[in-house]
Amino acid sequence: MDSRKSRIELQIEQKKAQQKRTVIIAVLLVALGLCAALIAYILTQQEEPPADNTSVQTVGNGEMDGENQNPEVQAPPEPLVPVVSEEESWMTVLVNNTSLLKEGYVPELVTVNSAGYKFDARAAEDLQAMLQAAREEGLSPMICSSYRSWERQTTLFEKQVVKQQNTGLPYEEACEKAKTVVAFPGTSEHQTGLAADIVATSHQLLDDSQEQTAEQQWLMEHCWEYGFILRYPKDKSDITGIIYEPWHYRYVGHEVAQYIHENGLCLEEYWQQVEEQDLRQAQQANEPKQYEQG
Ligand SMILES: [Zn+2]
Repeated sequence: MDSRKSRIELQIEQKKAQQKRTVIIAVLLVALGLCAALIAYILTQQEEPPADNTSVQTVGNGEMDGENQNPEVQAPPEPLVPVVSEEESWMTVLVNNTSLLKEGYVPELVTVNSAGYKFDARAAEDLQAMLQAAREEGLSPMICSSYRSWERQTTLFEKQVVKQQNTGLPYEEACEKAKTVVAFPGTSEHQTGLAADIVATSHQLLDDSQEQTAEQQWLMEHCWEYGFILRYPKDKSDITGIIYEPWHYRYVGHEVAQYIHENGLCLEEYWQQVEEQDLRQAQQANEPKQYEQG
């Protein structure tokens, strides 16, 4: 009986030992797997950033391999200045004392209110939408000037010249003086059909006090959403050559209006940026050629 019992005990012990080995092997395998996974993870974490850096450093400085791990040293790409297509170039036309409108320019016009004011047909819908949105806010904006024809602008200017001559000024001086009061034909944005003077119905004065009205405050904040900009801002007179006019809104299209609004520019500054961008792009395109020539 004893020997049989001990044989059974022996078998049980052997089985237990085998089970133990299996468990140990299993634990070891799992541990090994975890280690491999951990190593793989660490390797991928280390490899990625240097891969980026090396490509940057090769361009900049070949000696800095592995030292410069700060990605902040890279200059951020300059934001692109939006430029409208050829067909939409009417939107962003620059009209001022040095950039004259093409003589005889007449846009396709539509009448925008009961007073008979006209606006460029391509932008009239946005003008109406802006005024409607203001009205829905309980405001009463009112157009007091919009499109002006070459003839009208010329008549206004000539009248002003005569008025100046009547004060005793010779013709040329009278012309110069008149230019400070009435825009010389070809230099008025109102001739584009894209500008509107908008005032509060309750306060129709064309002076700085206009900015205090709820209508102007709303328009200044929201006009870009409808493709408009306040054309002659307070702090840009030196650049625009025109006094602060918190009533003169100009259509430039949605994309450009948003860009001008977000960057606090006037239209002249926008065009300056476009020119600089064109120059940069032309230089980049010509770079290999310049090296050959140099
Ligand atoms: Zn105006």
